[in-house]
Amino acid sequence: MAIRNVLKEGDELLRKRSKPVTVFDERLAILLDDMKETMREENGAGIAAPQVGVLRRAVIIDYEGETTELINPVISNEDGVVIAAEGCLSVDSKKNCNVARPYKLTCTAQDRDGKPVVIEAEGWKARIICHEVDHLNGILFIDKAYKEPPNATPQNQGTKASDEPPNGTPQNQGTEAGDNADGNKGKKTDG
Ligand SMILES: [Zn+2]
Repeated sequence: MAIRNVLKEGDELLRKRSKPVTVFDERLAILLDDMKETMREENGAGIAAPQVGVLRRAVIIDYEGETTELINPVISNEDGVVIAAEGCLSVDSKKNCNVARPYKLTCTAQDRDGKPVVIEAEGWKARIICHEVDHLNGILFIDKAYKEPPNATPQNQGTKASDEPPNGTPQNQGTEAGDNADGNKGKKTDG
């Protein structure tokens, strides 16, 4: 395995749409192993192939110590809305900001051998999947920075923090971007 260089915002490759993976070979396995090592080195919660300069639809998510490889991921059955702060290995942490994501979703994909994978994800895990799949479409989280509606009331700001599990991260219980920037004590929030 090898640590690969993570592209930073401004690199045009991060803005391109990645192509489907069609060959499930040793080369893909090496890419995934390198992505995993790079994600861990950078203390990320996820990583997408375009972040290491490979425009293929492959992502890895790391949730509660468990890594999941998702090849050609497709999101469906999105439900609910959670507003919480995000960061990204490819974006300066000064730009961390709130993003609205579905509370839960289904992700169908393939594993590194091409076998079908179906994941039902909620909360922070769903957020990581959305963030990484956005990378495959050339979208960065800063493109989706959440702005409070001018007439927002506490009831319609959309956060479902109370639905989060009691051991949820501070990042997904709050709606203040500063909660993340200031309270991030080594917790992996970036992808
Ligand atoms: Zn990212």
